[in-house]
Amino acid sequence: MKAELQAAGARYWLRDARAPGVLVPGLEAGHDVDGLIRLDLRIEDGRIAGVAPAGSAAEGVDLRGGLVWPAPLDAHTHLDKGHIWPRTRNPRGDFAGAIEAVMGDRGRSWSEADVEARAEFAIRCAHAHGTVAIRTHLDTYLPMARGTWRVMTKLRDRWAGRVAIQMSSIAPLDRFAGPDGDAIADMVADAGGVLGMVTRHSGHVHDDLPEGFQAELDAFFALAEARGLDLDLHVDESGESGARALREIALTALRRKFKRRIQCGHCCSLSIQPEAFARETIARVAEAGIDIVVLPMCNMYLQDRVPGRTPRWRGVTLVHEMRAAGINVSVASDNTRDPFYAYGDLDMVEVFREATRILHLDHPFSDWHRAFAANPAQAMGMAGRGVIAAGQPADLVLFSARFMTELLSRPQSDRVVLRDGRVLEATPPHWRELDAVVGLSG
Ligand SMILES: [Zn+2]
Repeated sequence: MKAELQAAGARYWLRDARAPGVLVPGLEAGHDVDGLIRLDLRIEDGRIAGVAPAGSAAEGVDLRGGLVWPAPLDAHTHLDKGHIWPRTRNPRGDFAGAIEAVMGDRGRSWSEADVEARAEFAIRCAHAHGTVAIRTHLDTYLPMARGTWRVMTKLRDRWAGRVAIQMSSIAPLDRFAGPDGDAIADMVADAGGVLGMVTRHSGHVHDDLPEGFQAELDAFFALAEARGLDLDLHVDESGESGARALREIALTALRRKFKRRIQCGHCCSLSIQPEAFARETIARVAEAGIDIVVLPMCNMYLQDRVPGRTPRWRGVTLVHEMRAAGINVSVASDNTRDPFYAYGDLDMVEVFREATRILHLDHPFSDWHRAFAANPAQAMGMAGRGVIAAGQPADLVLFSARFMTELLSRPQSDRVVLRDGRVLEATPPHWRELDAVVGLSG
């Protein structure tokens, strides 16, 4: 198939493909039990020129029923931390250990050259796997963060047209209360970024909020409002049943009539809170139009980890209940080969495969296929991307797998990525390329 595609030129048909029906808006075709439809795709000069029921095209590249998915978008990553694992492990593998380890590594090693080498390595991995857009959080502690943002702005410009890179700050909420708040928000606004923070607090769901929490939240929203910034927040990433920032964020957005997009990631605690409390939170999140991104691989890795004890909890949030409430839910990578997650390669096919298993997105798949592409596109302000539709760039991932059970059973290392209708020849870089950066002798 690959050789035929390489020889196909600029105008050709992709014949007899399968695709998730929910990612092909406007095409009426019979769905199989997993929501897949059969179709032919016309490619012209880098774009999808037409989508038709299978059997419409008389010639072209025959996919023999193989799956075609729109290129994915990865709405939550940490490119600045990525790949430091060989030099800075997380000895306990838990959340507190991750924070401690990253803090040490950041202080010791994050020169601009170091961040650039690791971040670009990660972008190359994502690109080779087929990803067209990445949002990265960047640890934003002044003054050091200015270097990180400078590097990522350079990488964003270098990769423009291949991988669209969006940047979001991350620092604890209380950091935004003082003079650093304005300085960070100005830097984010100047770079065209998204304002992000992380919030955690303990206690019980019926306790009063920690003192000053609401004032800090309001001050944070005000920073975004003054500059017209979207928000992207790390929320309740813990196994504390009293962590309930998600509800407070939704209520604050509603009260302030916040106009820009808000994406909230993690929201782990929601799944261990009393049913009625969780239901009420979800209703407010839906009302506020907040996008949710779930990071199932990192959540399962970090949450409920106690030495010598088998984990009982998957660590993930209530995605089915959120979807039922009409909330836009995406899946994303989060960390890769750093103290928050020792593994990963920014491969959204892996993320979707693991998400399906961890979150039971299957039987039926209903419209969960959207969580891979169309939903993150919406959350990232790139609505219209992440679907197979006439007029869109021909950025597609082609598989020999024909059914969901085939797709999710292997890593799909033989996938063919099309960018602008042509075969992408990129391959993921070997880890060896980072040896000098992370202090390995090979
Ligand atoms: Zn994260």
